[in-house]
Amino acid sequence: MAERFEVVVVGAGPAGLAAALTLARAGVEVIVFERGEHPGSKNVMGGVLYRHPTETVVPGFYHQAPLERPVVEQRLWLLTEEAALTLGYKDMVFAREPFNAFTVLRARFDRWLADQAVAAGALLINETVVEDLLWENERVVGVRTGREGGDVRAEVVILAEGANSLLTQKAGLKPDGINTNQLAVAVKEIIALPREKIEDRFNLEEGQGCTIELLGEATKGMLGTAFIYTNKDSLSVGVGVLLASLVRRRLNPNDLLEHLKSHPMVRPLLAGGESKEYQGHLIPEGGYQAVPKLYGNGVLVVGDAAMLVNGIHREGSNLALTSGLLAARTILAARDKGDYSEANLAPYRQALEESFVLKDLKKYQRAPFFFDQNPQFFTLYPGLLSRAAREFLTVDNVPKREKQKRILREITTSRSRFQIARDLYNLWRVMG
Ligand code: FAD
Repeated sequence: MAERFEVVVVGAGPAGLAAALTLARAGVEVIVFERGEHPGSKNVMGGVLYRHPTETVVPGFYHQAPLERPVVEQRLWLLTEEAALTLGYKDMVFAREPFNAFTVLRARFDRWLADQAVAAGALLINETVVEDLLWENERVVGVRTGREGGDVRAEVVILAEGANSLLTQKAGLKPDGINTNQLAVAVKEIIALPREKIEDRFNLEEGQGCTIELLGEATKGMLGTAFIYTNKDSLSVGVGVLLASLVRRRLNPNDLLEHLKSHPMVRPLLAGGESKEYQGHLIPEGGYQAVPKLYGNGVLVVGDAAMLVNGIHREGSNLALTSGLLAARTILAARDKGDYSEANLAPYRQALEESFVLKDLKKYQRAPFFFDQNPQFFTLYPGLLSRAAREFLTVDNVPKREKQKRILREITTSRSRFQIARDLYNLWRVMG
């Protein structure tokens, strides 16, 4: 006889663990399957973890969780081959409770989060792949794991399997196969550096952290971003680009990372560091239009598996945690009625629509297609802005008015005033 639980969760990332923790706290019998050696061992994130959504799941988590540094400064660098146009915001309010965001290493953080779920009563089974779903009368009634006699029956299965969402496809919630326009591929390296060096190089006080997002030459002009985040005694350095762009340009993500690391603006930040880990992962970036069906009879999908990533704002962990929480609440309401049919799980979509999760994805719903069709934002404009700054800041006895004219001439020979006005208007419509 197959084991029976009220809820099976597939995947112990933030989405699955938020759901498991919430359910276990409410007294639901919940089992979590994780294919990795332990939660976090297979997970990749830049990674900035946001305080507010995390606290909704584990109040006061920042007193106990293994966090790296509170993020007090966020910088944006527009790179060209030899220059960087920079913008940043630093705020000491972010350095003290209740904080805004933290850098984390997922191998440590997910393990800690899983411990909270287990302490609340969830059963966590590591090193176990869920291979298939069990069906009866067109409803999901459990999962088939890779272990011998490993069928587990459940009232509801939560699919929290991340970007490579094979079971979500098997559940019929998502089309089969990989859509290269909806997935980014990212590579990340963890580079060890003494903590004082990190603080000196990034102009930080003891224990504080900063993030740098890099565009333009950082991705060789492709749709995507690169990042450098400060951990306690290491840096997380990575780059992610749309899979379709990478295929079109016949480039390899590892070469992109090496290209980034050797950039003259980046190289000095990493100098003397020792490479500790190298990871690669997919990021679902299809946006609102690509969000699959989120529920069926006896099944719900959360986090990356549900395409819940806001690539424009580098947010994913918070959407994962919140979707896990809302899925759990939907299940608790269905449990009160004793009915886990599709109709009773449908309020999950509604709850996501009413939260920041789908509101934000909806706001940027045209962005993935727009930036793919308008590469000038990642290729032409960074170069033009950089050359304009170079011209204006070069002191060479040329009067400033003449410099302004030169800048305007260079800009308008590359792109007409009409095209620029149209680009700005379209950008505003997509992002505003
Ligand atoms: P995951 O964290 O991917 O967890 C899924 C889990 O399911 C994994 O542990 C996996 O091993 C397990 N699993 C999969 N299939 C099975 C199976 N069949 N059986 C058993 N277990 C299975 N977000 C941010 O908020 N801030 C950032 O700075 C940020 N930076 C990022 C940088 C990179 C390079 C990448 C790749 C992503 C980044 N994200 C960031 C996004 C963020 O990492 C994800 O949105 C978040 O991890 C999604 O959580 P999840 O629980 O849905 O999926």
